[in-house]
Amino acid sequence: MEKAEIGLIGLGVMGSNLALNIAEKGNRIAVYNRTADKTRAFYAGAGELQKNIVPTETLSDFVAAIRPPRPIIIMIKAGDPVDEEMEKLRPYLGKGDIIIDAGNANFHDTRRRFKELDGTGLTFIGMGVSGGEEGARHGPSIMVGGTEDSYKRVEKVLTSISAKFDNDPCCAWLGTDGAGHFVKTIHNGIEYADMQMIAEIYGILRDGCGMEASDIANVFGEWNKGRLNSFLIEITEKVLRASDPETGKPMPDVIVDAAGQKGTGRWSAIEAQQLAVPATVIEAAVAARCISAMRGERAAAEPMFNKEELSFGIEAGPWLNRDLELALFAAKIAAYAQGFDVMDSASQEYGWKLPMPEIARIWRAGCIIRSQFLDDITKAFSDTPDVANLIVTPAFSEMVNECLPSLRRIVSAATGAGLPVPGLASALGYFDAYRQSRGTANLIQAQRDFFGAHGFDRLDGLDIHHGPWGSGAI
Ligand code: NDP
Repeated sequence: MEKAEIGLIGLGVMGSNLALNIAEKGNRIAVYNRTADKTRAFYAGAGELQKNIVPTETLSDFVAAIRPPRPIIIMIKAGDPVDEEMEKLRPYLGKGDIIIDAGNANFHDTRRRFKELDGTGLTFIGMGVSGGEEGARHGPSIMVGGTEDSYKRVEKVLTSISAKFDNDPCCAWLGTDGAGHFVKTIHNGIEYADMQMIAEIYGILRDGCGMEASDIANVFGEWNKGRLNSFLIEITEKVLRASDPETGKPMPDVIVDAAGQKGTGRWSAIEAQQLAVPATVIEAAVAARCISAMRGERAAAEPMFNKEELSFGIEAGPWLNRDLELALFAAKIAAYAQGFDVMDSASQEYGWKLPMPEIARIWRAGCIIRSQFLDDITKAFSDTPDVANLIVTPAFSEMVNECLPSLRRIVSAATGAGLPVPGLASALGYFDAYRQSRGTANLIQAQRDFFGAHGFDRLDGLDIHHGPWGSGAI
């Protein structure tokens, strides 16, 4: 029997769709799942794609079905299961074979696994895949980390299955070991921020302006034709327009207001903190999901505090819609600037040389944060490669100047009305702090020196590093 070009372990939601995508693009693929029933059901449902699929029920048959050197994608639950599966697989593998973990791995695990295989003749690729079920089936964004040589072996298959933006494949090799999974993590952090800020704008329209879901859907629908055009704005309109088949109410009105999370947003915030990079919008988004999950506490707290007579103070209508659109756009710039800043720092820390324009390029289609806006980021980073921050590129500083007054008005009005907007407010605080040449940390330095003799530098450069706190001069 003709050998398969590639193998895939794990026929869950993502794995089965990815396998069908690979087969559909004319690549012969061997598949295996620890529960064989799933493999049989998958093969039975593969229709005419069966001709490119080799279903197997043991790991030895699976490995034997693939042409060496064998690229093997593992698409299973992240964490220990990946280590366990690798352990089981290794006795069957030979020199040059490539294990590709395509799940949502923590990049520290990816670095460890990469290192563990070093010198064994086997290679490890950590591959971030974004786009959910639909993306996996019809074209995800693919972020690859590993050796460049091992990427070359799988490049043809991966680019064939990835999403395309103007015929350009949204798949790239980004650096060694954990580079791909790190970039995927930050992608998810930005996704959290994007979603949180969209939800805050929804809250302003719902609670500040008293608008119905269908009217709010119209606003998002309009925005999707402009500079906010993106997958997340598009699906926001769709979910706001949908009706619950059980009650006939708008779908969002019957859904519990507690957001789930699997950890990648939190990892972004943790890594930002570890690298000492301000990622305040992403952090705010993660924290907001945590507060959303504290439903019982929120319900108990509500009656304990005085009901203030607050109102949003801006009437619903085209003027407000325009201001909200620009405010959201400004805040979005802050979130992406922070995400790219974290990646820049990680790139130096881990020696990856992450290609920023390339990352923005492969996020333009296929992934959850896909948008036209990412094309602007690609251009901005290509035009000014060594820039310190996205917001100080000529193109983006101009956009910030245009949109910042709207963000300020909206955050003021929302906080004045008691509407929580932690993501938008963090973005505003970030801009205000970033562009302030004389900040207030001089006071913090004085306090630190007062209680801990930590020392400070003086503006006049005098070689005096402590204040007169203990000397009787105060
Ligand atoms: P599913 O829950 O649909 O499938 C899980 C798969 O993992 C099944 O094949 C299951 O096998 C296998 N599995 C679970 N535990 C073990 C184990 N201990 N040993 C061997 N195999 C195991 O998950 P998804 O397809 O949604 O997710 C797979 C990976 O892709 C995860 O890392 C996820 O984070 C990531 N991902 C998911 C996205 C999504 O939108 N769903 C998007 C991007 C990435 P069995 O059938 O025998 O239970």
